[in-house]
Amino acid sequence: MITVQRLDTPDQVTEKATVALIDGSITWTYGLQEQAEWGFTLPTPAGESPTFFVMRQDGVPYYYVHFHGVEFRSASANVQVGFSRTWYVLHVLGVRDVISGAAAGSLHRDYRPGDIAIIDDFIDLSHHRPRSILTEIWERPPYIGATFAEPTCPELRAILISLANERFRRGHVHERAVLVEEEGHRFSTPAEARMQKLIGGDLIAHHQASEAIYARELGIHYTALNYVTNIAEGLEPNMAWVPPEEGRAAGALCVEIMLEGVARAARRTSTCTACPRSGDDPAGIALGSVLMKPVYH
Ligand SMILES: [Zn+2]
Repeated sequence: MITVQRLDTPDQVTEKATVALIDGSITWTYGLQEQAEWGFTLPTPAGESPTFFVMRQDGVPYYYVHFHGVEFRSASANVQVGFSRTWYVLHVLGVRDVISGAAAGSLHRDYRPGDIAIIDDFIDLSHHRPRSILTEIWERPPYIGATFAEPTCPELRAILISLANERFRRGHVHERAVLVEEEGHRFSTPAEARMQKLIGGDLIAHHQASEAIYARELGIHYTALNYVTNIAEGLEPNMAWVPPEEGRAAGALCVEIMLEGVARAARRTSTCTACPRSGDDPAGIALGSVLMKPVYH
C-alpha cells in the first residue's frame, strides 16, 4: 500500500524531480501509481492538490499525476479546479518538463485507430476550464500575452517523436497533429465532430490544450502523446474502435515511450527558446511579484 502524505509546503517534498508525467487514459489500465515510492498532496489556493506520486525511471525521479486527481464518478465539483491545482503544484515544485498522454478520437482520415501522434498545435473549445492559470490562481497578475507560435515544446516533442519512431509500428506514428480540446465527459455528436474537423482539427481529446496553455504561461516545457482509439462519431459509417487486445498492447508501448521520454527529458541540457523566455523569468512574466498573492476566486 502506497503512503500518501498530506504536506504543508513544497520544501517538505524530499525527492526533487524536474520532470512530471501527467496522463489521462493511457496509463489508466496499467496501474502505474502502484509502482510509486510514495505520494503527497499539497495545499493550493484552489484547494488540496491531487496526489503527486513519486516515481523513478532508469534512476531518474519524476512525479506522476493521474487525471489531475479528478474522480470522474463524482467530478461535478472537482473537474473545473483539478487542472489549476495540478499546475499550481507543478509550478511551486519547480518542475521544468511535463510529458502528457491521452487517448484521442480521430477527426481526419489520415489518423487511424491504433495510430499515435505527437501534437504540435491545438484548438481550445473547452468552456469551463480556466482560460489562464495566472488569472485563475494569482491576484492581479500583470497583463501578459504568452506566445504560442510554437504551442508545444520542440525539444520534448523531438524526444517523443524519436522514441515513437524507434518503438511503435512503422507507418503509424504522426509527428504532427492539431488537437481539439472539448471537456467531455461525453463523446462529440456527429455535428460537433464535423465542426471540429472543419475548423482544422485532426484529433479530439479532453485535456491537452488547457495543459499546453498553463505550461506556457508558467514557463514549463510541455509535450503530449495521443493514442488514437476511435473515429469521431458520424465521420465514417462506423465509429471504428481499436480492438481491446490491440489497444492494450499499444497502450503498454505508449507507456514505455512516455517513461523513456521522462528519463531522456530529465537528462537533457535544454537550449529551448520556444517555452520560457529566460530561466529567471518564465514566459516573460514577473512571477516573483505575482506569487506574493495567490488567491482563488
Ligand atoms: Zn521548450
